[in-house]
Amino acid sequence: MSRLIDGKAIAAAVSTRTAASAALLRERGITPALAVVVPTDDEGAAWYVRSIGRIAAQVGIECQVHRLPLPTDGAEIARRLSELSRHPAVHGVICQTPLPDGVDLAVVGSSITVGKDVDGVNPESLGMVTAGVPGAFPPATAAAVLEILAHERVPLPGRRAVVVGRSNIVGKPAALLLLAEHATVTICHSRTLNLPGVCQEADILVVAAGRPTMIGADYVAPGAVVIDVGINPVEGGRLVGDVDTDSVLGIASAITPVPGGVGPVTTVQLMRHTIRAALRANAMDETG
Ligand code: NAD
Repeated sequence: MSRLIDGKAIAAAVSTRTAASAALLRERGITPALAVVVPTDDEGAAWYVRSIGRIAAQVGIECQVHRLPLPTDGAEIARRLSELSRHPAVHGVICQTPLPDGVDLAVVGSSITVGKDVDGVNPESLGMVTAGVPGAFPPATAAAVLEILAHERVPLPGRRAVVVGRSNIVGKPAALLLLAEHATVTICHSRTLNLPGVCQEADILVVAAGRPTMIGADYVAPGAVVIDVGINPVEGGRLVGDVDTDSVLGIASAITPVPGGVGPVTTVQLMRHTIRAALRANAMDETG
């Protein structure tokens, strides 16, 4: 039988360590602060921003929500991101999606200073992560995938990892982080031929395609660890992942559920990056 990985428990463990570092900053009179720029009235985004605020409060981070008057455009979003990046009392800056039509996250994201780019949306951050240069943060979701694998003690060196999805915010950075841990990595996307066959080769299968339950039993090798990043709203207000969990249970050795898998770990990872940014800005020890 497959083990269901408890993302909430992993998030709680990360949260405890992050809260301890936040307390150290506060003892020094520094209030760690995360600024969230919200250029949308999307309901799902509003829900996510509320959950960021709640988790930030739990770990001792001040969450500043900057809702832009709508409609807005790329120039205004970039201006606010840049302004907040220059603010000395702000340690992390993120830009909530969806963005207005025609606005590219990588383009506006380049207005966030690398040291405050706690969700790794500035292409310079991705470049530094690719080159293994310290000082940049990977996107929180990609970092969450690696945190889960580390917490579950999944060996990575030399193992076959397959990532389905090549977005700048999930698939690509997750693949890069797996590569940095010495996995042998294959990146799949919408034009990959024989996707089930490639996925079958994986010891570790990471799925971030945004296609509800597309990964079934015929994609998963016996004993593989499956990390389902997908979050897809379906009829009845339910959320499902990209993996058809029921059909994979009993084949995979372990799998993250949706909800309750990668999602909660992603949010605390954002907090962890914010605290690291604040520690770094104040020349304090960043470990933890
Ligand atoms: P995206 O649309 O930017 O990218 C999707 C990727 O999947 C693309 O590279 C595309 O080539 C690939 N793809 C699409 N259909 C495919 C198919 N049939 N076969 C193979 N590859 C296919 O999406 P994203 O922003 O990377 O997000 C992916 C999923 O992860 C979404 O469901 C999103 O909601 C979820 N997500 C979850 C978290 C979290 O915290 N858990 C965070 C971000 C995104």
